[in-house]
Amino acid sequence: MRRISHWIGGKAVPGTSGRSGPVWNPATGAQQATVDFASADEVDHAVAVAQAAFPAWRATSLSRRAEVMFGLRELVAAHREELASLVSAEHGKVLSDALGEVARGLENVEYACGVPNLLKGGHSEQAATGIDVHSVRQPLGVVAGITPFNFPAMVPMWMLANALACGNTFVLKPSEKDPSASLLLADLLRRAGLPDGCFNVVQGDRVAAERIVEHPDVAAVSFVGSTPIAEYVHQAGTRGGKRVQALGGAKNHMLVLPDADLDLAADAAVSAAYGSAGERCMAISVLLAMDTVADALVAKIRDRIPGIVVGPADDPGSEMGPLITAEHRDRVAGYLAGAAAEGATVLVDGRDGVPADGFFLGPSLIDHARPGMRCYDDEIFGPVLTVVRIGSYVEGLQLINDNPYGNGVALFTRDGGAARRFEFDVQAGMVGVNVPIPTPVSYYSFGGWKASLFGDQHIYGPEGISFYTRTKVVTSRWPDPALSSIDLGFPQTR
Ligand code: NAD
Repeated sequence: MRRISHWIGGKAVPGTSGRSGPVWNPATGAQQATVDFASADEVDHAVAVAQAAFPAWRATSLSRRAEVMFGLRELVAAHREELASLVSAEHGKVLSDALGEVARGLENVEYACGVPNLLKGGHSEQAATGIDVHSVRQPLGVVAGITPFNFPAMVPMWMLANALACGNTFVLKPSEKDPSASLLLADLLRRAGLPDGCFNVVQGDRVAAERIVEHPDVAAVSFVGSTPIAEYVHQAGTRGGKRVQALGGAKNHMLVLPDADLDLAADAAVSAAYGSAGERCMAISVLLAMDTVADALVAKIRDRIPGIVVGPADDPGSEMGPLITAEHRDRVAGYLAGAAAEGATVLVDGRDGVPADGFFLGPSLIDHARPGMRCYDDEIFGPVLTVVRIGSYVEGLQLINDNPYGNGVALFTRDGGAARRFEFDVQAGMVGVNVPIPTPVSYYSFGGWKASLFGDQHIYGPEGISFYTRTKVVTSRWPDPALSSIDLGFPQTR
């Protein structure tokens, strides 16, 4: 059985804890590897290595740090197929989707190539007579990332590129469900010229994650995962004096107004609900359909579902792969059984007609859902689209704003005035207008509101640079000895 280990100090390091977990092939249901689970001591070792590497990396010139990012950019681009294949093999998403993930991660490396410009401070000449003030951005030290299973290449790149370019050293704890992409990224960073010890990977479960969150020498934690764990990471990390950005779960709504092009809206809903088997934090989970068009829209979505090819990632014909584990597939399927019992209508049941091996569940459609039903209230995180019929725009907006999550949201309309009003009033961090998955480009920042993000800084882009640096303001005077005198008054600027 292949064994997947840690990466510490610029090389693969076998685990010593004696604890490990299975890595499945979700398309067959067979175990394909074992991943070592780090103990607290192994996390401590990785943090110590990162801390030892920090002074030299921090002192490395901006142009050299940018050069490493340019090198990483070229290497990730050259190895995108290999990286995507690793993602597909362990996560189960189809190759085209995994390639998209790598491309969206790569954007963040490209953004970090501009770090000399991004870290420019400000300067005020003659703030007071003979006194100048300037500000600089300095790295924090050892920073850590704890990442979810659904984007094992992209989410680490959301973090590592900006963190390293800013001069921090990094400890990554990837999801134990698909750990291999992180090791290829580590090797590509080494080949790009990153000094040993600046980037480390500790594989593991909550034992490793909790040690990272508690470790006194970890200055900041970026977390992406489910809401309960995000909340814990934020509370425990900030209690320990860390800077924490903790991105949580989602329940993304798509509101379709009656003037929208219904074919376009149906295509968008199907793509955004079932792409990556719904295991995206930006997936559309709830369709809010106005009564006047709901029957037509639901029929169009229902008609499209049989055309979706469900199958293993290594079959080029597959459009949607399996779910991540058998437990998760069963949990998602449970919502279909529950929806009928709660009075909703299961129009398409993904338990029917999917491959018998592996962790497959087909695209599923639930109609006539309401708040209070579990299929509406919970984050399902699978290929289930839930339709809520509404009487008015105001009712739809109210449902969105009442939802505890506020990650992504989408409006479909041809009315610019309605779109502007929606943009103004909606309580979510990322808004799509005729765009079902409005994941911001790398030079903006990504993050939800409410229970979708704990902390005050969104991830990547300008807020990522801000998160991974702290500012220092220097007030300086270079007095002319000829003009020196004693003055006991409080310093004033005028
Ligand atoms: P998860 O919360 O189960 O795990 C995320 C990470 O936390 C993993 O590395 C895991 O090992 C670790 N972890 C698990 N239990 C822990 C504990 N008790 N203490 C500390 N760490 C622990 O999430 P997942 O199932 O891997 O990913 C799916 C979830 O992530 C969904 O809720 C999805 O919406 C969310 N997600 C959010 C975003 C976003 O940007 N907001 C992006 C991707 C995924």
